[in-house]
Parts: sequence; C-alpha cells; structure tokens
Amino acid sequence: MRNSISPSKERAVTVLMYHAVLGAGDADAQADEHYSVTREQFSRHVDAACRSGSAPTSVLKLLRGERAHGVGFTFDDGHASNEWAAQCLVDAGGEGDFFVNTSTIGTSGFLSWSALRDMAASGMSVQSHGHLHRYLDELAPAEVDEDLHRSKSMLEEQLGNAVELFAPPGGRVPAGFLATARRAGYAAVCSSRVDIWRAPRAREVPRLAVLAQTSDIQLTRWLQQDPRELMARRLRAGLLDAGKKLLGNRGYEKLRARLLKQAAQP
Ligand SMILES: [Zn+2]
Repeated sequence: MRNSISPSKERAVTVLMYHAVLGAGDADAQADEHYSVTREQFSRHVDAACRSGSAPTSVLKLLRGERAHGVGFTFDDGHASNEWAAQCLVDAGGEGDFFVNTSTIGTSGFLSWSALRDMAASGMSVQSHGHLHRYLDELAPAEVDEDLHRSKSMLEEQLGNAVELFAPPGGRVPAGFLATARRAGYAAVCSSRVDIWRAPRAREVPRLAVLAQTSDIQLTRWLQQDPRELMARRLRAGLLDAGKKLLGNRGYEKLRARLLKQAAQP
C-alpha cells in the first residue's frame, strides 16, 4: 500500500496534539487547564474529522502505510482521562498515538499499565514521552540517551509492542535530536513545531496543539489546512519561541501561562 502512493501525490496530514480530556466535574490536579479540553469538545473534533472524510488515525499507522490518509490524533503526558478519549476514537472507527511518561504510569491522575494494555489491544499506539518529563535541551547527552532508552524498553517490556515514536516533553530538544532518536531506535519524532505534516513519510512530525480555548471554527480551519490560519499559528509560536530564548525555560513557563489566555482567537 505504501509504495502505491507517490510522495508528490500524498496529501498533507493535520496532526492534532491533546493533553487531558476532562469529563464534567473532573478535577485533574495533574492537568494544565490551558491544555485540557472537555469531552464535548473532543467528541465534536472527532465528528469534524470524520465529516471531513478523514478518519481519526495514529501517526504510527500513517508512517507504516497502514492508512493512506487521516487526521492524526495524538495525546501527550498519559493523563488517566485519555482512556475515555481512546474509546471515543474506537467508536469512530479510528485510533491515536498516546505519548506517556514511564515514571508516572499508574500514579494518581495518570494511566495505569492495565489501561495502557487495554488501549493497545483496541488498536491505540502507545509511545514514549520520556521517562521523567524532563526538557531534553537541559540534559547532558548521556542523560538524553538514558531517557530515550529507558522509556522505550519499559514500554516494550510491559506492552509487548515495538515503541517507534518519541514526543519530546515541551517540544524542547537539543541540536541534532532527530538523529539521536533514530540511533535510540525510534522511527520518528512527533514535535511541537506548528505546521501540518507536509510529507507524511517525513520523520519529524509537526503537530497543532489543541487548547481549552481552541474554537470549533479554528479546528475546522486546521482540518482544512487553511494557509492563513496556519501562518497565524506559526507567528504565535515564533513569538513564544523568542520568549523562551530570552527568558529561559523557567521564565518562559510564566510568560506562557499569560499568553495562552490570549491564544486561539479565530
Ligand atoms: Zn508533556
């Protein structure tokens, strides 16, 4: 199937990045409110993807050529609330990638090993977000290698599936990280670079972060790959990056919280 599609004819893929997906009255102390969506929002997004003619799918299936096209649904941090989202994707005939931190699996607010096994059995792709959720651009090269290897081997031992994707915490990586990840056995890196995935066999997969404030109109524009909307997202991301360089990771966290309040204006 993969070889029947010429790269020049492949359609670009919108890959969404979620965090917690909260039900009414859910209080998840581990979830960042700006990055959390409600179950109602999430259901509407799945419906919108299906209506656009693209099934919700995992980056893994697209990379393997097991699906020719789709909307990528990815989830970072392994929140317990992702189990509900996985079932929602199953009900829609789709699947997603769940990037988990192996140090938090089974702790309060996060998915357990048994939930992850059930999700993998239902077709979900369970992948690595690192062991400790440390920003890799703050670590020594040996510590980066340790984080990549440890999380991968723990997931593979416990779940029995090959772990092929890595999503860096905070999207923050040292120079040359794609090659480092490939050496550690990962086929691709799902980044936080703001764009659509223009060459759906490329090994660096940009993603669009879905926030609490992301409107249905805006999400529809992402699914339509509206050039003006993507430009606006990239400009905003560029401003946040500049802030990070000026302030460092810690100062940036404070600024980010303020800027997120102004985010997602359609
Ligand atoms: Zn994260």
